[in-house]
Amino acid sequence: MHSRENVMREALSEMEAQRARNIAEEKARREHAEGKSPEVARLMRKRHQLFFSGMRGAFAAPGRAKDISASMKEEIAAINLQLRRALADCGLPEDYLQPVYRCAACRDTGYVGEPVHEPCACLKRAVMNRLYQSEGLQGLERENFAAFDESIFPDTPLEGRKGSQRAFIRRCREFCEGYADGFDPAAGQGLLLCGRSGLGKTFLMNCVAQRVLERGYSVVVLSAYKLIEAMRRYQFGEGGMEQVQDMLSCDLLCIDDLGSEPMLRGVTLSSLYHILNERRNANKAIVVTTNCDGDDLYEKYDDRIAARLTDPSRMKVIPFVGVDVRRFAAKEL
Ligand SMILES: [Zn+2]
Repeated sequence: MHSRENVMREALSEMEAQRARNIAEEKARREHAEGKSPEVARLMRKRHQLFFSGMRGAFAAPGRAKDISASMKEEIAAINLQLRRALADCGLPEDYLQPVYRCAACRDTGYVGEPVHEPCACLKRAVMNRLYQSEGLQGLERENFAAFDESIFPDTPLEGRKGSQRAFIRRCREFCEGYADGFDPAAGQGLLLCGRSGLGKTFLMNCVAQRVLERGYSVVVLSAYKLIEAMRRYQFGEGGMEQVQDMLSCDLLCIDDLGSEPMLRGVTLSSLYHILNERRNANKAIVVTTNCDGDDLYEKYDDRIAARLTDPSRMKVIPFVGVDVRRFAAKEL
């Protein structure tokens, strides 16, 4: 696993690259606007001259620096107003020549706050997403909605049903894609994808995770096994505190294959309950895949855990049906 320090360094150097791209973009925009409108070019020159003559004046007569800067401010504000109009006149957005950055809070520096300097939410998110992409999300690049291939699911009617497995998985995919596109980190709405192995649950969960990531939210994806392992280490003072904090604080927590984790006395049930309950109280969503059905969940865990996983006001339960397509695909080959 990548260390948090390395990942932080990577994220900061990516931000530095972003700032360089911002500057290049600003320059390209300026050239484009000046080429398009002589009036914009004239105003930009005027603003530039004014700025430097003001600076020179202030250096030459430090006693008048305050007055100079006040009158310069006024003149620049007047030019800016004319610039906005000139930009609109040549069909460009009024804010076309404003500074460019991805994050308005930190202007792509990664830090906010004066005098206490602290990491911006965008930096924290970048670090978290990198950490878990390098660990648990290896599949995410491949497992996304664009790569979802429903043709591997049989097109014959499902046992005892009218529709085919392919039609069923298509509806699941549509539902999951709608969920990811509409994902609201403050809504606390989650998904429970349940059913036997090889029905496409994990693939769809990864598609959801990838789309929510693309939309700029923090996502942690990990297997139930790893989740319990992290909680165990934390509980026994072997570290892992940051990982536990990530699981609690990320916008979306995706737990794969719940039910396959070891049942450690004094660890598994209390850890699961803690995470589910903390996230629920904070109105944060979870997406879970499991081979267990509703009854199994009540049997395997306790009522409080099972109830949180299946609570209809917070969780959409999707029972997957059909035949194992991994086995099916292998037979075809
Ligand atoms: Zn930021």
